[in-house]
Amino acid sequence: MTQYPCSSCGANVEFAPGTTVLKCPYCGAETAIAAPERAVREHAFEPFVRLPRKPIATLAPHTFTCQGCGAITQSDKISDRCGFCSAPLVADVSSGDQVIPEAVLPFAVDRPALREALRQWASSRWFAPNSLKKVTEAESAHSSYLPHWTYDAGTVSHYTGQRGEHYWVTETYQENGETRTRQVRKTRWYPASGRVSRFFDDVLIVGTARVMPDHLHKLEPWPLLEAQPYRPEFLAGHETLRYEVEPETGMEHAKARMAPVIERDCRHDIGGDEQRVHSVSTSYHDVTFKLMLLPIWIMAYLHAGRTFNVVVNGRTGSVAGERPYSAVKIAFAVFLALLAVAAAIVAYQMNR
Ligand SMILES: [Zn+2]
Ligand SMILES: [Zn+2]
Repeated sequence: MTQYPCSSCGANVEFAPGTTVLKCPYCGAETAIAAPERAVREHAFEPFVRLPRKPIATLAPHTFTCQGCGAITQSDKISDRCGFCSAPLVADVSSGDQVIPEAVLPFAVDRPALREALRQWASSRWFAPNSLKKVTEAESAHSSYLPHWTYDAGTVSHYTGQRGEHYWVTETYQENGETRTRQVRKTRWYPASGRVSRFFDDVLIVGTARVMPDHLHKLEPWPLLEAQPYRPEFLAGHETLRYEVEPETGMEHAKARMAPVIERDCRHDIGGDEQRVHSVSTSYHDVTFKLMLLPIWIMAYLHAGRTFNVVVNGRTGSVAGERPYSAVKIAFAVFLALLAVAAAIVAYQMNR
């Protein structure tokens, strides 16, 4: 367990979003985080999956002893706060039991920037109740690093299918007792097969089930190239979740994300006017992966007795989440639309 005491007052310092410093929440003293000594690395997947490893679900929670107040906190998070004095705590994740984060994309969006992102989001929601503005107070917002897997892979895919080519025929038909002709488009199908290949870079898979994946996907794209080699300092003062999706499962999800891209390649390769793809058999080579921590603000707010969840990309400020609809505003909009239709009808009648 690691804590970072302030050099001037001894309190525990936190990583300040948008900076490269640890900042003391009490006296404001800053400590620079050392520049990275190495680049972010990809890890070969095949040798890794042959290593013995405990399933992540069977790992015991981390036990943190707060250096500030001495309280013991148990948590399955990599970083958390002391349950008693809320000092930031960061676990040492050097043990061989779990995959260690390779990279972290540090928070760039701080609380004022978060409020601004939420204000823009709330004001651009159609038919939102006025209470949605409450979300901009972001009181319940907490900063969380969520585990994500990235996969690189070369793929070679053999496919079979059909290429369709259009041609036109002249058909005769009867209308009102007359014989007429018309042009009709038909498709002639030819067998097609071939091979396509592609290299996928950083296919991103969410490694936790605790936050709705639909929302997280809407926070893409991530500026992954701005990620830093993992340093526990970036986690201080922010919550960090342990992954729950094993890397092997993540790879299956990554293949599912690659499949539609590969199918598009097959269709392009088949050519013609239309394509049918009957089978695709893909082999993967040079597969590498890494565990990344991505910064996300997570909050919930209450409206009419229901909880709505909102997430914000801690790097780009893009917002995704649930929002309530105002029945009053929708009814008023419908009323205005009906009024406009009525006015148009009246105008039309008067002009006749
Ligand atoms: Zn201090
Ligand atoms: Zn404490």
